[in-house]
Amino acid sequence: MILTTSVRLPNEFVGPVKTLVALGLKLQEQALRHYWSLEGLEKVAAHSGQIWKLLDAEMSRPEDVYIPSRPWRCILESAGRILRSQAERKRIFEHLLPFFAGGAKNAARKLYEEFKAEGNPEKFGYLLNVAEQLAEFYAGHERLPQNFFEFQRKPEPKRFTYTLAPDDGAENGQAIKYCLEGNRLAGEIKLPVVPEPRSKKDWQWLSFSIELPAELQEKLAAGGTLCAPDLRLKVKPDGELVALLDAKVDVPEEKPSGDPGRALSVDWGLRKLVTCTVVSRKGQLTPPFFVFWSGLKARLFRIRDDIKKLQKERDRYEKGTSDWKKYNRKIAAAWQKYHRVQHALAHAVSTLLVLLARAFGCRHIFVEWLVTLRGKKGRNRDLNWWVSTVVRGLLFRLLRYKAKLAGIRVFMVPPGGTSRVCPRCLGAGKHVISPGNKTEKDSGSWFVCPSCGWQADRDYAGSLNIARVGFSLARPLSYKVGGAAMPFPSRVASAEAMTFTTTLSYVRSVFFANIGCLVKLLSPDYDIVTL
Ligand SMILES: [Zn+2]
Repeated sequence: MILTTSVRLPNEFVGPVKTLVALGLKLQEQALRHYWSLEGLEKVAAHSGQIWKLLDAEMSRPEDVYIPSRPWRCILESAGRILRSQAERKRIFEHLLPFFAGGAKNAARKLYEEFKAEGNPEKFGYLLNVAEQLAEFYAGHERLPQNFFEFQRKPEPKRFTYTLAPDDGAENGQAIKYCLEGNRLAGEIKLPVVPEPRSKKDWQWLSFSIELPAELQEKLAAGGTLCAPDLRLKVKPDGELVALLDAKVDVPEEKPSGDPGRALSVDWGLRKLVTCTVVSRKGQLTPPFFVFWSGLKARLFRIRDDIKKLQKERDRYEKGTSDWKKYNRKIAAAWQKYHRVQHALAHAVSTLLVLLARAFGCRHIFVEWLVTLRGKKGRNRDLNWWVSTVVRGLLFRLLRYKAKLAGIRVFMVPPGGTSRVCPRCLGAGKHVISPGNKTEKDSGSWFVCPSCGWQADRDYAGSLNIARVGFSLARPLSYKVGGAAMPFPSRVASAEAMTFTTTLSYVRSVFFANIGCLVKLLSPDYDIVTL
């Protein structure tokens, strides 16, 4: 499997990469125009192997600029990937149509099940994305689209990712050469050094040597090998352009570890960063583990406040003056600090989750469906929501690769049936303010079930339901210690302030917070009741 880590290239790459991106965008647009038809996309779908070969045979090279042969291939391959993704979207669209009866979620879920049954599982999020677009069309036109091209406008990508895969390898590459030198990644890339390259001499080798980020070292240490990277330009929030190299590491597929009938089930929350519980098909195996982060979240908010103040200060000066620049540098440094804290947190917690899954012999990690930032629903949320959502997104990304390295599979559990259902009896539950105040409230942190009387922390109940859905269980989950059902865990849930130091002490603190429950778990009369 290929895992990607982005590394920043030196600033002198920005200009040449910008020229390359402009060239790439133009050719990408040409390729899209050329293949944007039923026949075109079917040709793309039918072509196996590197897609540049198809495009090279059918598209002519521009006459007004000079592009060496390997960069030309790389540009075509990059454009071809967009075509491939559109051909794939068309396939999903055509499969989705017969399932569509007005609701996006239902259609996506049915198709998800069908693909799964056929042995070709697709990501639910992707299916839902296409289904939502279909629902939007349906709402606007009061009918279904006649074909894919009525449904999907020709994309007009503003970005271009230059893939170096069709080049001749790390040592003999004619577009890029790269190698590992100790803990550095070194190499050179052939790039246009003038805005309109007309001849060979307008393309030159630019060299780089970058310290390997921890993430990349981890992947290489797991037996991974570097393969051809991608190159792209990124615009930072303050408008600064950055040239990024997406380093790709091919990591050998780890043999699945753990018991296939066991999972660590993870629920996100606003007050807690995550709540997770180890569950088998038979029942709940451990008490919930809570990861609190109010201290760190407060720190993130403080940094954002500082940034706001600095921006105010900066804007008192004219843009470009030395005082303005001084404040701008301070703002950049504050953002860097912000991202460092975010990253350290996501890194530690994702490691913790993988450790827990390993310690309890889980084959899977089930994760509650993550709302993506691109979703329209996020627009009107408050800062708290944004900060949490960004951290979770980062955490999820790290979790996925760390779990992969450990032979554990991460599944996103589709939404529906995880929030209000009682995991103990499947009755309809309620969210209330707290164990002491049973006033019903949507955002309440306590779950109560009027049918069976079970009550517990809301996110804990959520994690159990995620496990039920993850295992496709139609029955409730049991959990009994010494014969008595345990209503976890009012005591632990109130320990809101937890300090954060290093990964290890963090893991330890989480274990300590749950130690009372763990002792019960390890006692000889611990028993799972099978239903
Ligand atoms: Zn119940």
